[in-house]
Amino acid sequence: MRAAVVRNFNEDLSIEEVADPPCPDNGVVLEVAACGVCRSDHHGWSGEHPRVKNGSILGHEYCGTVVEAGSRAKYAVGDRLIAPFILACGDCPACRRGVSNTCPDQIAPGFTAPGAYAQYVAVPFDHNLVHLPESLTPALAAGLGCRVTTSWHALTDRAAVQAGEWVAIHGTGGIGLAAALLAKALGAQVVVVDIVAEKLENARRLGADAAVDASQVDAAEAIREITGGGAQVSIEALGIEATTNASIECLAPLGRHVQVGLPTGRTARMNINMNAVYMKNLALYGTRGMPAWKYPSILGLIERGVVDLTPLVTREIALSGASAELKAMNGPTPPGTAVITDFTG
Ligand SMILES: [Zn+2]
Ligand SMILES: [Zn+2]
Repeated sequence: MRAAVVRNFNEDLSIEEVADPPCPDNGVVLEVAACGVCRSDHHGWSGEHPRVKNGSILGHEYCGTVVEAGSRAKYAVGDRLIAPFILACGDCPACRRGVSNTCPDQIAPGFTAPGAYAQYVAVPFDHNLVHLPESLTPALAAGLGCRVTTSWHALTDRAAVQAGEWVAIHGTGGIGLAAALLAKALGAQVVVVDIVAEKLENARRLGADAAVDASQVDAAEAIREITGGGAQVSIEALGIEATTNASIECLAPLGRHVQVGLPTGRTARMNINMNAVYMKNLALYGTRGMPAWKYPSILGLIERGVVDLTPLVTREIALSGASAELKAMNGPTPPGTAVITDFTG
């Protein structure tokens, strides 16, 4: 099969013919229909992810059609499926408790196994997958594996957002924009923060109630003013120290910060304003992915037309175009995300 392979960090992915993936006994092989290019891929591409090395294949937000099924697979050849980026074992105490996104035996294609920047991807633990609804294009569905589900879980589970609350969102990339659209669907008031004017305008056009340009003003101060004392919930959607502190500092007393952005750097350490956490009695939540059992809640919302996620995907690209997208993430990026839908080009 054709795949985009990591050879040297920070350089173009190498487009190669590699062996087709073997079919796992407890899962399937998918012919990939679409795979998103995510900021988490940038961590792997730049050498910051400990499991990504020479020979790795990135790609963790994908959907496709089953071309081979193992003897213990749940799905059959021909099924069109969406995969979450965390493939949980289904059988450990965490999985049995319904918090399968924390499963210690999880497999994450694109990081701990070959990913979907390729024509085919092996998917073990296929009980995590769900049918791709007819109403969704593969390009849009690909985002459901990562940015949309991650945002959904952050808002509905970790922060437990209530209608009428102010939700601040720091960073309007794939995750941030998804969070803004979903928070609006939950009845919240949304203020978005970025340093790219075009992305702020885009978020405003898509329904954000207010926008703050952090390159021009102190974001936390501006949000406290807009919200009349601070946001109840703040979503950090980038993973750097400046936005994490802005997120903590923009909150009202008793506010909830959710760390959605994957912290950057090899050590992922940050210098955090713990005095604000202490003085304002804040809650800090981490979040990663979504337990697969929550798929019906988000798919239902999309299928009923409560939320329109089509603005999230702005570019459909070929496999050979992924490198340019990753390189572009070294700086501020344009609105929306890119999805690979052509695996021969
Ligand atoms: Zn992702
Ligand atoms: Zn498990």
